[in-house]
Parts: sequence; C-alpha cells; structure tokens
Amino acid sequence: MTDDHMLAPVSAALTDATKAAILDSILDGLVTIDESGAIVDFNSTAEAIFGHERSVVIGRSVEELLVPPELRPAHVDGLRRYLMEGSPHIIGRRTETEAVRADGQRFPIEITLIETDREGRRLFTGVLRDISDRRQLERDLINIAYFDPLTGLANRALLLRYITDAMEASRAYTLAVIDIDRFFNIRNSFGHVFAEELLQGLAQGLAMHLGPADRLARIGNQVFALMFDGVLPTDAVERRMEALSATVRSAITRSGSPVFLTASIGVAPVSEQHEHADDILRDAEIATSKAKDGGGNRFVCFTSAMHSRLIDQVRIEHNLRQALECEDQLWVAYQPIVELVTGHLAGFEALVRWQHPERGNIPPSDFITIAEETGLIVSLGKWVLERACRQLMEWQDIREPGWAPLFMSVNLSPRQLDESCCIDEVRAILKRTGVEPTWLKMEITESAVMNKAEESIVLLQELKRLGVRLSIDDFGTGYSSLSYLHKFPVDSLKVDRSFVIALHQSEENRAIVRIIVDLARLLGFDVVAEGIETAADANLLRALACDYGQGYFYSKPVTPKAAEALVRGRLPWLDRSDY
Ligand code: C2E
Ligand code: CA
Ligand code: CA
Repeated sequence: MTDDHMLAPVSAALTDATKAAILDSILDGLVTIDESGAIVDFNSTAEAIFGHERSVVIGRSVEELLVPPELRPAHVDGLRRYLMEGSPHIIGRRTETEAVRADGQRFPIEITLIETDREGRRLFTGVLRDISDRRQLERDLINIAYFDPLTGLANRALLLRYITDAMEASRAYTLAVIDIDRFFNIRNSFGHVFAEELLQGLAQGLAMHLGPADRLARIGNQVFALMFDGVLPTDAVERRMEALSATVRSAITRSGSPVFLTASIGVAPVSEQHEHADDILRDAEIATSKAKDGGGNRFVCFTSAMHSRLIDQVRIEHNLRQALECEDQLWVAYQPIVELVTGHLAGFEALVRWQHPERGNIPPSDFITIAEETGLIVSLGKWVLERACRQLMEWQDIREPGWAPLFMSVNLSPRQLDESCCIDEVRAILKRTGVEPTWLKMEITESAVMNKAEESIVLLQELKRLGVRLSIDDFGTGYSSLSYLHKFPVDSLKVDRSFVIALHQSEENRAIVRIIVDLARLLGFDVVAEGIETAADANLLRALACDYGQGYFYSKPVTPKAAEALVRGRLPWLDRSDY
C-alpha cells in the first residue's frame, strides 16, 4: 500500500465531511496526532481495531491510549527528534510494532507514518492495520514447516536449522540419532493409537535429558535426534547414551503399562569435515544403521570408515540398478544337487552372477545384502526366478525318458516375502514358463524365517498352497529349534556348510547331524547337505542317511551350457575313484 497518493487528496481541497467519509471508508485504521501527540483524527476502522470510540479519544495522548507502556519512551522520543531534527527515517516507512486495545490486550500492528499539513498545523497520520491474523498464520506455517504435530518437537527441517546455526556460531556439539527398534511390529501388533501414545511418551522421556543448550527433534516416524552442546569425551558419551537407552527401555503407555522397547543409537560429534548440516546428520544416521545392523539395543559412534563403506554401497546400488535394466551383465549359474545314494543328478540351485563391464565379476556376497537393504532384491529375485524356471523347462525336455524330473532351487529373500504381490508373481511365472509347481523349491534362510516367525508362516503357507516346495536354507546357523520346525510348512532342510566342516571334528558333531537327519525324516522333510568339498564329506553324509548333497566336490556353480551337459547325463563325479 502506498500512502502518499491516498492522503494527498485528503489534505487538499476537500470539505471536512467528504474527508471524514473517505477516511471512514478506508480499510486501514487512521490515527492522526498533532505535534504534542494528541489525537486529532480517528477513523471508524481505528475504532474497530482499538475498541475506542472516536469521541472518547479525540484530544487524548496517543501514547497513553494506544502505545504499550514500555514502548512509550521510544515513541515520544522519536516524535520529538523528528520535530527537532527532521530525521526522516520514521516517516513513510512501514514498520511493525505493538499496540494496546481498549481492553488492555496487546496486538501486533503494521504502521506507516505520514506527515500532513492542515491549515499550517503539522499533523502525523499513522496508517495502520491489525496483523494478528497474519502473525498467527506465520506461526501456523512455522509450526507446520518446523514442528512435529504429534510430539510438538522440532522436526527434521528445524533440527537442520539448529545445526546450521551452531555451525555458523562455531559452536561444538554432538548429535545422537535414536531409532526405536522393531517399532513397525509394535504398530502392527498394538495399533496406530497405541504407537502414537508411545511416541509421545518417549518424546517426553527423552526431553528430560536435555541441558539448557541441548535440542531434541523427531526426525522420522520412530526416530529422534538429540543435539548435545559440546563435544563430549568418550566416557561421557557412553554415560549419556546409556541413560537415553534406559529411558527408552522404561517406556510406558499412557495407561501405565510397560512396553519393552530398545533403541539403536548413532552418535556423531561435529568436526571440520562437516560442511553442511546434512553431513553430520548423515554421519549420525550411518552410525544408527550400524547399531541396527548389529541387532539393535546398542549405540555406535560414527567412524570415517563407515562413510567409505556407504559410498561403496551407493555405487553398487547404482550399478545394480543399471544392470537390472540392461540385463546383459546378470546371469544365473547352476550348481548341481546330487542324490547321495545313487550319485544321480536331482536338481540345481540357481545362483545369480554379476559380470560388471569394468569391475569384473562381483560376488553375491558383495551385492545381495545391498540389494536386500535397498529392496532391489525384489526385482532381482523375480528375474532370477523367471530365468531359472525357463531354463528348467528346457532341461526337463532333454532329460532321458524315465528319469525323475529335475527340481530347481531358487533363493527367496525375506524382502520378497514382504511384498504383497510375491505370491501372485510366483504363480504368474509358473504359468508363463509352464513349470510344475512341485519342481520348484524356494529356499529361505533359517534366520529370515525365525525373525518373523508368525508372519512367515502365513506367507509360506500361501506359497505352499501354490504347490511349490519350500526349503530352509543355512539350517543350523539360526536359532530355530528342531521341535519348532513342524509349525513351518517346509519340505526340506538345507544343512549349513559349517555342519559339514564340523562332521570330521568329533563324534559329537556327527551325532548332531544324525539327530537332525532323523528328526527331519520324522517330520517328513528331506535333507540337503551343502558345502560338500571332499569325497570323505560325501561318504560320511551318505552314511548318515542324508538325502542330497551339493558342493564343490560335485561341481561349482556353472554356466547354463556346462549345466546342460550334466542334464544330458555326463556326471564327472561318478568317474572318481574315491566316490
Ligand atoms: P547360499 O544360498 O547358501 O548359496 C550357497 C553358496 O555356497 C553359493 O555361493 C555357492 O557358490 C557356495 N558353495 C556351493 N558349494 C560350495 C562348497 O563346496 N564350498 C564352498 N566354500 N562354497 C560352496 P554364492 O553363489 O556366492 O552365493 C552366496 C549367497 O548369495 C547364497 O548363499 C545366497 O544367500 C545368495 N544368493 C545367490 N544368488 C541369489 C539369488 O538369486 N537370490 C537371493 N535372494 N540370494 C542369492
Ligand atoms: Ca541357497
Ligand atoms: Ca545356504
């Protein structure tokens, strides 16, 4: 709003009545005072804004009526200086300040002062408006942009501002990122409301740890960040983290019932390497995910080695995405699985291979975990499954008539099981390729099954209903008790390589494997031993009545072409004298 053009005609040759009418129709409050500060004009908008009637205010001192007490000296002083020195800076400039209403309530206003001349008298008009709504809106916007509505804590954006402020002021601080372990399970089991109450309680509990210059924020669903003032010595960090963990462990619901919670905490002190607020937050989050990878319920301090590993991971992830798109870098190797008694070929395990144009052969151990973390395993797994099924169809056709059909073992990542469309996709691939469901064996690791025992059972049952066979991979490395296994709809146990190695070490180890085989038989499972590297391994396992064997003694995972020769019946291990 420019005020000069509005008031110029007013002060010119208009009649007083016209002036009053114009002044009253203006949406801004207009308060005119003389050199002594006495009010000479007060339009109806000003009446509405201040709650004073014009007739009451005329002639009274503006600062006593409308200016908050502590602003009065500045107001009087400003006017006096202007009158004496003519310093123009207060005239014509829009400023924001506070005013007082008739009921004593203070409120923000925006005001522009104009000097006018009326019959030789110097008058000053304040053109003003109540900006309470605008202020409220600003506050609301700030709240939306910077605060978490659930806990009232600062959000990620505000935390980043705190960090930036600290950096600009060269203030040292330490950042801790606190991620509540398995919170997803809590939400799923106890519901949304319960989870939210828990988070509110946690926010309060964590706030108790704040020193005067510390900050707390909620930066993710179940993730909090604490910014401690100063860089703390290791033992002090340990004490504080232990105290934070204890708070998390002692969380209770609003109704007072305890819940067992743990947290993964990552700690990063600020250093010269941190140029932006994001950098330190990233470091603390890397340390948090390390704590999580280690099984949670712990804290980890960031080290620069963690960062280089992350850069490697990001590179691999990027390359793997490309590989999945162009497909010519990925291929599937097949490792024969042999019937131990006869030495005949029973099936294959499909194992993905990645031949990178520059980096050469990248082993699955270097990329499967990353693919699982990033979810790329879902498309990778699907691709391998389709490939392996197509391959199996070709091989069943060239197999000698009268031989039992081959089976194909394909690894299934727990991430794939999480996908709701997993079952549909397996069904579609079977249909597209013509593979009989019973020829397909899906391998899922023991630890994956046990980590989410209840959910896994349901999903595995659905797979089972398709007619697909299921196998527990790496059996013996997890914590599953044999007696628990009957709950799972599996057909097969794949005994981990470590057992095969241990076989030769003691009679006791052999007894363990014998028990596994006997119990598996009792439960109706077949047993596959993996990692058979010598004839001695093979003979021992056969003696223990293990059904199938797989390992370098028979064959490494080979190209489809080499595998085809095996399918055609040329089995080199049968020619070995020690077999
Ligand atoms: P795994 O499922 O336990 O596969 C067996 C691994 O042991 C394979 O390693 C295989 O080459 C190796 N192996 C076989 N016989 C012997 C032996 O006699 N001695 C020794 N020392 N090792 C043997 P690979 O191919 O490097 O795969 C490693 C892991 O990567 C697999 O372990 C599996 O967990 C994962 N993986 C491979 N392909 C896929 C896939 O397509 N999908 C998923 N989800 N995971 C895969
Ligand atoms: Ca496997
Ligand atoms: Ca295995």
